Amino acid sequence: MSDTHYDCLIIGAGPGGLTAGIYAARAGMKILLLERTSVGGQILVTDFIENYPGFPKGLSGWDLVEAMKSQAEHFGVTIENQEVISVDFTGPVKKVNLPDKTLTATSVIIASGASPRKLGVPGEQKFIGKGISTCATCDAPFYRGKVVAAVGGGDTAVQESLYLTKFADKVYLIHRRDQLRATKILQDRVFANDKIEILWDSVVTKVDGLFGLDKVFVENVKTGATRELAVEGCFMWVGILPNTDFLGDAVAVDEGGFIIADARMQTSVPGVFVAGDVRNTPLRQVATAVGDAAIAAVSAEHYVEQVKS
Ligand code: NAP
Repeated sequence: MSDTHYDCLIIGAGPGGLTAGIYAARAGMKILLLERTSVGGQILVTDFIENYPGFPKGLSGWDLVEAMKSQAEHFGVTIENQEVISVDFTGPVKKVNLPDKTLTATSVIIASGASPRKLGVPGEQKFIGKGISTCATCDAPFYRGKVVAAVGGGDTAVQESLYLTKFADKVYLIHRRDQLRATKILQDRVFANDKIEILWDSVVTKVDGLFGLDKVFVENVKTGATRELAVEGCFMWVGILPNTDFLGDAVAVDEGGFIIADARMQTSVPGVFVAGDVRNTPLRQVATAVGDAAIAAVSAEHYVEQVKS
């Protein structure tokens, strides 16, 4: 085998990929962790994590990533800033194509995570970065003393709207139903926060502005009433899409495009495992991503041992 043949290639360096790296490195496997953007994935843009065990006072996504990264590096994990363009899992040797070379491996762990879904309304594309954001940690400080909108009713929309209120004077939380999807504890905090006004049964139909975004058009889906909100920013938190473009049809996915796996985190292809938000899973948390990843890494270790023997 060539120098670029690995026991295991791990795609994605969020909590799942980093954990898989820690387990695989401690098992003595020859591994490489590939990350196309920043180590940490979505938790980098999470201002505060209070449900990951071991940190009774909570901690920022950034701090948790730094701790996981230094733990991975402590065990000798190499992280390369490379984007996987495509893969070929048809043979026993798995091929992972980067822009300028092909890596091969006996096993692969896909931990490529998920990205925020777009709303798809007129004006959205034009104002991304000019008033539209999906990252409160990055952009909330720009809205000190201002009025902003937030769209969605899940954990992200609710948790991040609460964070926005540390800066903004008022947050309109626009949700398409009359009930939030978010966890009860987060819902209770939103209901108790007098800076947040929830617009129930409401959808955004358009965003507009002269220089940057300054208007969000909202329609009540029950009454048909329309409203024009004067805001300086609009945060979109309407769910996530799996980061699987590079996979083509290499592994089986569910109707939402999330990767299907068995209890050992093995995908439809022997030797290819999955962990974290990109998996078809009932719960997407740091705790579940790291649990998936521990199983995936041990499964990959067993698979590689079997192939070698
Ligand atoms: P999510 O749970 O899928 O929620 C998406 C929200 O956007 C839902 O309220 C949904 O409305 C709404 N929505 C979807 N499409 C829409 C559209 N076209 N127009 C208007 N609204 C739309 O996504 P998420 O909040 O990003 O969370 C993703 C995962 O990460 C979840 O598993 C979540 O639990 C997890 N997470 C956990 C935490 C935490 O534990 N603190 C924090 C962040 C995220 P409906 O409710 O009507 O479907």
